[in-house]
Amino acid sequence: MPQPVATFSTLVIEQLAGGITAIGINIPDHTQNVMNQRFIDELSQLFVLLRQNPPRGLLVESRREGSFLAGADIHRIDAIWTQSPAQIMELCDKGRNLLGLFSSSSWPSVAIIDGVCLGGGLELALACDLRVATENQKTVLGLPEVKLGLIPGWGGTVRLPRLIGPGPAIELIASGESVTGDQARVLGLVDACVSSSSARASALQLLEQSIATESFRQRRHDQQQPRLLEKPEHDFLLATMGAVIAGRTKGNYPAPMAALETVVQGSAKSVHDAALLESKAFARLAKTPVAKQLVRVYRLSERNRKDGGLCDLPKASSEDFAAVQRFDKPSVVGAGIMGAGITSRHLRSGFITNLVDIDADALQKSIPVILEEAAWDRYHQKTNQKKASELTGLLMSSTQLSAISVSDIVVESVTERTDLKQKVLAGIEAVVSSSTVICTNTSTNPIATLAAALSIPARFCGMHFFNPVRRMSLVEVIRGPDTSDSTVAAVVLHAKRLKKVPVVVQDSPGFLVNRVLTPYLHESVELLREGVDLESIDRVSRRFGMPLGPLELYDMVGLDTAFYAGLVMANAIGDRIDASPVIPALVKAGWLGRKTGCGFYKYKSTGHDAKIASVNEKLGTVIEPYRLPERQITDNEICDRLFLPMLLESLLVLDEGIVRDGCDIDLAVIHALGFPAFRGGVLAWGDSLGATEVVRRLDEFKYLGPRMIAPARLLTHAESGLPFAAVGERVPVQQKNV
Ligand code: NAD
Repeated sequence: MPQPVATFSTLVIEQLAGGITAIGINIPDHTQNVMNQRFIDELSQLFVLLRQNPPRGLLVESRREGSFLAGADIHRIDAIWTQSPAQIMELCDKGRNLLGLFSSSSWPSVAIIDGVCLGGGLELALACDLRVATENQKTVLGLPEVKLGLIPGWGGTVRLPRLIGPGPAIELIASGESVTGDQARVLGLVDACVSSSSARASALQLLEQSIATESFRQRRHDQQQPRLLEKPEHDFLLATMGAVIAGRTKGNYPAPMAALETVVQGSAKSVHDAALLESKAFARLAKTPVAKQLVRVYRLSERNRKDGGLCDLPKASSEDFAAVQRFDKPSVVGAGIMGAGITSRHLRSGFITNLVDIDADALQKSIPVILEEAAWDRYHQKTNQKKASELTGLLMSSTQLSAISVSDIVVESVTERTDLKQKVLAGIEAVVSSSTVICTNTSTNPIATLAAALSIPARFCGMHFFNPVRRMSLVEVIRGPDTSDSTVAAVVLHAKRLKKVPVVVQDSPGFLVNRVLTPYLHESVELLREGVDLESIDRVSRRFGMPLGPLELYDMVGLDTAFYAGLVMANAIGDRIDASPVIPALVKAGWLGRKTGCGFYKYKSTGHDAKIASVNEKLGTVIEPYRLPERQITDNEICDRLFLPMLLESLLVLDEGIVRDGCDIDLAVIHALGFPAFRGGVLAWGDSLGATEVVRRLDEFKYLGPRMIAPARLLTHAESGLPFAAVGERVPVQQKNV
């Protein structure tokens, strides 16, 4: 190669035998290969050089283990907020033209996808003539732009449907889900899926065949043609996929529907016109508040990825965590709903896991549930039976605590009773070594109270998972007064290895999530007492974007559990929010929610997955003694009554230093309560209104007393105009080791 090639900093150029040039992608200063400006400039310069000295074929690969190319650098996405739609369209055109150089060159190209290949990374691979994926577990291919409120903008909606067909392309683009190398092979997205060690040989062989037969020319010709859909197929895609997308997004996320329309319309057009449609749709989406919020949520997740629990880690690579204790022998005590979910999560992450429950029957019943959940294949939406039988070998179960003596971490998840938990925790401490970290999944017990049962409280903390564990990714890591920094850091790392989102919180009633949830739940019952129709309350909440309305949530959690949690919270925040008299009355009537088949609603069956049959028509008689003066309340007022108290509680949580900053609150409510990500979390929602507007709305609810009084922090924000939760770096704290 000519001299200047050696100066590239993001590309490693290698001259292979037979006139093949290999490009190795290696983006410095990032843990993943991402498309930053330097990479884009260098790729463009490289093509100038290649055209001066054409190779017979081009091989594109990564020089970074586990990462082919993970899409655009987030800073590039941030840059589009300030640009006009015309400027954004121009950016799309430039990017597409750059990738078009692969398919307009006189030589064929092959991409070796060994690791993460997402977004712009997959668009680059699609621009090559051939693709070889690997069986590497880290190899995933996808176009996740809809998760940022966008669609692919560099030709993904044009090339993918022409390669694998519009239906599968819409499914991939509109869901934002990724596929493995082998699934990509079945879809026709790649030409082969082989082991990492044989990928180069396989790619070179395909490239040579393509050169010899010139088959790449026919492929390119095919890729240029419209992918005409017969009318029934066209109508079927629009109607069926449209209904699926409308069901998934509830009209709150515009990008998946835009992906459907762009692919269906673009498939029938020339490549040029399809690209224009793509640019237009991308530019329109980039101007929506939803995209802005979703990108912010992405940044929060990225920040969480770098968070070691005590401070941000510069790169969050494995070396940064090297000093932190890593657990390899986990145990779970308690095989109920939560213990089963926590055990499944461990198996899914490949841990050999011990499970103990005093009740042999409960233990036996939990095992098939655990294995089914651990081997759940999200792509095919069913349990992978082969995987389930493989995982059997990782699960050890026993009714004796002595079985966990070798554990390096134990998660206690037994029945929520203080005396029982203390007894079980002391029993755990008696059988494990002095370095074993012990965690509790308590929802309501102070960590300090439970720690009193232990002789080494420094190695003890809360590890609070949310129900259902498979769907709710938050884990509250709760530090008690004696919990050591090294315990916090180790449990945070462990949660990450379980693919969870850990947020460190202080030991305080309700911790973080149940604390901010309490005023919301409480307000829903107050609205009922004022004569607001039950279904309207839940409907307004769901329309806001919550997965369940507050009264449906009460029934799911269980009214007895809610009653107990309510007592704990009333002790802590009773000056503003009293425990509702309605909940104990429902419990007294034996209506505990889904588990008994009746609560605020009546259910078709009993149990966790029971479906609503109707409203509980006898509810009125139970509420009657507790009626409040009736009011005519609009849907907008219902919405404010439910969510403003959640916002106020969040501000108080910040004042009390229960979390390190507001971003943790936003991340937590999204990952534990399903708070709508398109609103960015409860504080971001408050910011979208503005503190002054929040104060004005609260003023209308003054008659409700202290719970609607603006706290000092809110007034300060109204005065300064500063946001509640700007995304920034955390201040590092000094780590103490025990
Ligand atoms: P559960 O009633 O479904 O299960 C509790 C299990 O503990 C039972 O299988 C029981 O046999 C076992 N157990 C009781 N005593 C034991 C002992 N001495 N040794 C070993 N096992 C024993 O309860 P759950 O809903 O799974 O809750 C477990 C914990 O998780 C509680 O602390 C609860 O507060 C917390 N939690 C629950 C939820 C939820 O929504 N259910 C959410 C978050 C946290």
